[in-house]
Amino acid sequence: MELSLDEIEQVAADVVERGDLPTLGQEPSRTYRLGIMGGTFDPIHNGHLVAAEQAFDDLGLDTVVFMPAGRPAFKQDKQVSAGEDRYAMTLLATSDNPHFLASRFEVDRPGITYTADTLERLRAIYPENVELYFITGADAIADIVSWREAGRMASLARFVGATRPGYDLARAKSAIAKSGLPFDVTYLEVPALAISSSYLRERVRRGQSLRYLTPDAVTGYIHKHKLYGASQLGYGSKGAEGRE
Ligand code: ATP
Ligand code: MG
Repeated sequence: MELSLDEIEQVAADVVERGDLPTLGQEPSRTYRLGIMGGTFDPIHNGHLVAAEQAFDDLGLDTVVFMPAGRPAFKQDKQVSAGEDRYAMTLLATSDNPHFLASRFEVDRPGITYTADTLERLRAIYPENVELYFITGADAIADIVSWREAGRMASLARFVGATRPGYDLARAKSAIAKSGLPFDVTYLEVPALAISSSYLRERVRRGQSLRYLTPDAVTGYIHKHKLYGASQLGYGSKGAEGRE
């Protein structure tokens, strides 16, 4: 079969658009479930990983793509680490899990990241037999109704709301109900990890250990690149520097 120049250009454009995203939907008779774990990941931590793993298991997802936000819409007033560093840490943290994947999809996009745009682009990339599941914590689910183009988001993907210590699932549920928008949300009870990226940044700043809060490779990266005020020698604990 000969392809026309237009068709070849279309195939090339599709490959570029898909980038590092997984190939899914090849078998038309089956349904595929793609999990998307969005976040700032500054840095990624075990709370993110546990929530994604639980969503993978409970919802029978085929794979979970971790997508660090380029310039997060709701964190414009805050100092956020370079996308390249957040992507690198996400890659390190997910590299030993066969059904996790880190993607540059958002960090490579110029401008502010809006989840509605991301979901729209993903919907255009994948065939109908690929369902999109956007995974978030309870805090983010409660806010989602106020995100840009919430109604459009509701029609593009299903949502997974993971419990998160300190955030009320009931508040998330009532915010969704009150919005009147047709959100399809599955709520998940995940093993509670009262961890946040802010807490990790604070610990690094104080020279405290990150062990068991995030994979050691992430801690190594933070110190090697002196993120969050880390010293290269500290290596996630006070180490030699902390000794009297
Ligand atoms: P920060 O403290 O900088 O806001 P964070 O820990 O909230 O960071 P984000 O990158 O903002 O991390 O979160 C990405 C997604 O992961 C959000 O949907 C958030 O609700 C979810 N999430 C973060 N931490 C947890 C946790 N400990 N348990 C469950 N979900 C979590
Ligand atoms: Mg947060």
